[in-house]
Amino acid sequence: MSLKKKGIQTICTHVGEIEDEQFKGAVSPIYLSSSYAFMDVDVKRYPRYFNTPNQEALCKKIAALEETEGALIFGSGMAAVSTTLLAFLNQGDHVVLQKTLYGGTYNLVVEEFAKYGITYTFTDGLDEEAFAKAITEKTKVLYIETPSNPLMTITDMQMVTDVAKKNGIITMIDNTFASPINQNPINFGIDIMIHSATKYMGGHSDICAGAVAASQEHIDKIWNLAKNLGGSLSDMTVWMLERSMKTMALRVNAQNANALALATWLDSLDEIRTVYYPGLPSHPGHELAKRQMSGFGGMVSFELIATIDAAVFMKSLELIKPSMSLAGVESTMLSPTQTSHALLSPEEREIQGIADGLIRFSVGIEDIEDLQQDIIQAIKKVRKAVAVH
Ligand SMILES: *Cc1c(COP(=O)(O)O)cnc(C)c1O
Repeated sequence: MSLKKKGIQTICTHVGEIEDEQFKGAVSPIYLSSSYAFMDVDVKRYPRYFNTPNQEALCKKIAALEETEGALIFGSGMAAVSTTLLAFLNQGDHVVLQKTLYGGTYNLVVEEFAKYGITYTFTDGLDEEAFAKAITEKTKVLYIETPSNPLMTITDMQMVTDVAKKNGIITMIDNTFASPINQNPINFGIDIMIHSATKYMGGHSDICAGAVAASQEHIDKIWNLAKNLGGSLSDMTVWMLERSMKTMALRVNAQNANALALATWLDSLDEIRTVYYPGLPSHPGHELAKRQMSGFGGMVSFELIATIDAAVFMKSLELIKPSMSLAGVESTMLSPTQTSHALLSPEEREIQGIADGLIRFSVGIEDIEDLQQDIIQAIKKVRKAVAVH
């Protein structure tokens, strides 16, 4: 297929597919070999070299979606995060990370970096001053995530790259929540895009994978470490991920539409105190999100009023499932206080704006009336439980 840029649906469906020259099948053949001939060939293929036929093909699709020269696929989102950060950080280097980050990334930094002699600073805010003052002479990487979990805070990507470029620093983004369908950070000068492909790229809650997209020069540098750390993805799963990504734009667009409609509806209910969704004009990041996102995503958080117990509400749902993960075609919810942020003290949760009544809602592709109905019946059940006691 020519390299001329295609529409997003066409990229999802076709870019990177392996032609079945033997049988003319409609989908990419799957090559499970872990052993390839070494003599008389240019490429030394091996799964841990990230260059089997299926790995290479899927990387082309991911690169096309993020509008970069290259990409790599990993065995998990954290394999992509850790390999990419460590590829650009040496002993004595410093990294600046935005203050609200995926928990696994936070743990990687605070639990592992000291032993490599890498120092770090988490910003105390998301504005220009917060980033600028965190930078030292030793800073090599600036790492952000937008929208971020669980309040869907929006970071100004152009501001971040302006600050970084002034100081000759590489910029990285965890683009998982937006997905390449809603946001292409390269257009704002971000150097390296990282994904948990477990989320929107997989989209069916049956794949654990990661991806990174960047210029070929950066990809080569990440590859040098990746082949040593060994976080490659099996070709069986690579093939499943290729199949999943054919419908990524369809799925994410449906999730965007459902999430916007549900956020607006939730905002109108007396039982909901606040709704956090970048698509709502009331969200502090709304104007920024309009500038840098083409859709507002499928993640919505909302806070129940104090008289509705979040744990009882969660247990009362019938259609919407409780889940730690997100981004599947099925709608799921979690209570950050009970799960992802359970280890923080109540004071620390309050500082971060995470109330006990907060629910994170990963909006799926179901009919919106059925999702509304489920939320309404759960609220009614909680009300009844309170009345009985
Ligand atoms: C899930 C997630 C990760 C980690 O991905 P895994 O596939 O679980 O390793 C990283 N960043 C974000 C924003 C995530 O949601």
